[in-house]
Amino acid sequence: MGAIEAGSALGAREWWGRAACAGVDVGLFFRDAQASRVQALAICVVCPVIEECRTVGMSEVHGIWGGLLPHERARVDAERRAVRRRWSSEVSTRDASLSALDDAVRAAALSESVVAQAVATARAAGHSWEVVGRAFGLSRQAAHKRWASSTRVDGGRDSG
Ligand code: SF4
Repeated sequence: MGAIEAGSALGAREWWGRAACAGVDVGLFFRDAQASRVQALAICVVCPVIEECRTVGMSEVHGIWGGLLPHERARVDAERRAVRRRWSSEVSTRDASLSALDDAVRAAALSESVVAQAVATARAAGHSWEVVGRAFGLSRQAAHKRWASSTRVDGGRDSG
């Protein structure tokens, strides 16, 4: 009887039939004596399903599973959890940067809207495109090209 038979519902697993410990005394995998451990590990080291066994036994607190002792499984488990935390942190950082980008796009759109409104107000007050352009360091033509369509209210000519 192998160590994997000690767990519940393991018999249904396909890989169990290929375990190197099938038919071996299960007690070998749960004794503290060094001689037993050496014997058990000698079986695990040639086991073709060591990875499957390690996965299943990761949360077990007793015995040798996948060639690992309890304290070794705890260390591997802690490392896995650290990787998950790091991954989670990376994802949060990436999401935060995307959120900041969205905020910037919205702020830029709002800013453009505020500028267009100010230009429209200036134009409605009778200021020329030359005056408007000068406020932005632009030529008359450049100011007209940029804002004429958004400040024209009646579809008429707007080239002043
Ligand atoms: S790794 Fe070891 S305990 Fe696990 S199935 Fe293989 S021989 Fe058995």
